[in-house]
Amino acid sequence: MKRLLGRTGLEVSIIGFGGTWISELSFEEAKRVVRRAYELGINYFDTAKLDGDSEEKLGAALKDVRDNCVIATKTASRTGGEAYDDIKCSLRRLGIDRLDIIQLHGIDDDKTLLKALRPGGSLEACKKARSEGFVDFIGVTGHKPHVLAKAIKTQEFDMVLVPINYLTRQALEELVPLAKELGVGIAAMKPFSAKTSNLITCLYRPSLSLLSDEPDLRHLLGDDIASRVRVALRFVLAQDVSTVVAGFKSTQEVELAAEVGNSYNGITEEEKASFNAKLGNYCRDCGLCMPCPENINIPAVLRFHMFHEVFNLKNWARRLYKGLETPASACTKCGECEKKCPYNLPVKLMLEKAILDLET
Ligand code: SF4
Ligand code: SF4
Repeated sequence: MKRLLGRTGLEVSIIGFGGTWISELSFEEAKRVVRRAYELGINYFDTAKLDGDSEEKLGAALKDVRDNCVIATKTASRTGGEAYDDIKCSLRRLGIDRLDIIQLHGIDDDKTLLKALRPGGSLEACKKARSEGFVDFIGVTGHKPHVLAKAIKTQEFDMVLVPINYLTRQALEELVPLAKELGVGIAAMKPFSAKTSNLITCLYRPSLSLLSDEPDLRHLLGDDIASRVRVALRFVLAQDVSTVVAGFKSTQEVELAAEVGNSYNGITEEEKASFNAKLGNYCRDCGLCMPCPENINIPAVLRFHMFHEVFNLKNWARRLYKGLETPASACTKCGECEKKCPYNLPVKLMLEKAILDLET
């Protein structure tokens, strides 16, 4: 099944191929995985100059079918000169003469956004490449929906790539409706990852993958891996997004996801009810309350507490919490975080509740 990627007019498969992990595979194995995706109807391929040799592998696998594919890559450079060189380098690595989409990579705070947008910044280079015919469309990626909302309001971007998954719903609040209104295409990334930002800096033990074999996750998403993949993808497909970009490492993973996409025909009433979660006045993980003078990772504590409270992932949340460097009980109630929170959250009180549920 395909959907329109906003005003680009591109028809993209609802399951997209994320190219990050193929950099860990041998060249031949990576080509097999990419090609299997193409054979199963996936036509949206997302990669990045930063992702090792992912671009070379994607390009080689799709060489003879390039015109049937939408290829999106990214530049993480912020100056015009460097970004322009990145685009040329990506074209070389992919072995193509035109990118469907170039995305500004990792626009995660206002400062980075301004740097990219200013005269001589990376956006200018993307526009130059577009006027020269090397690029068709320009997109933006990041982990902070409030920053991406500012980016797309400039009307400079044709699409946006942002994390959306069963446990990560911030983008659904403001960014997705805004993008829809502006005609900006929406690609959802990280459908299987509970780590959505570099603020979640615990030790990653246990794993932050929604597909990991945690009893709590099995209870929420299904007993076997195929069920968990299915539920996780169907949750995102039920949102107003054009494509769900999942990172693949094997042909089996591709086959599982492609089957979900190819059989997708809307969600059932039962799914609608189970996908609905009452988040209340929750932490949006914007990070604007940081740093805390006591070194408490406020967004991580509140996120893990939400897993506990809203999604009933009690043991998993407690174990994730244990991996944090500083416990929330180190809070001196100075109130600095509350002054900075744009959502006026009662952070001190929320931390007290988190301590009760996660520490005791
Ligand atoms: S109130 Fe607590 S969590 Fe907030 S900034 Fe002060 S010490 Fe940190
Ligand atoms: S507590 Fe407020 S400022 Fe801090 S991350 Fe959450 S929403 Fe943002």
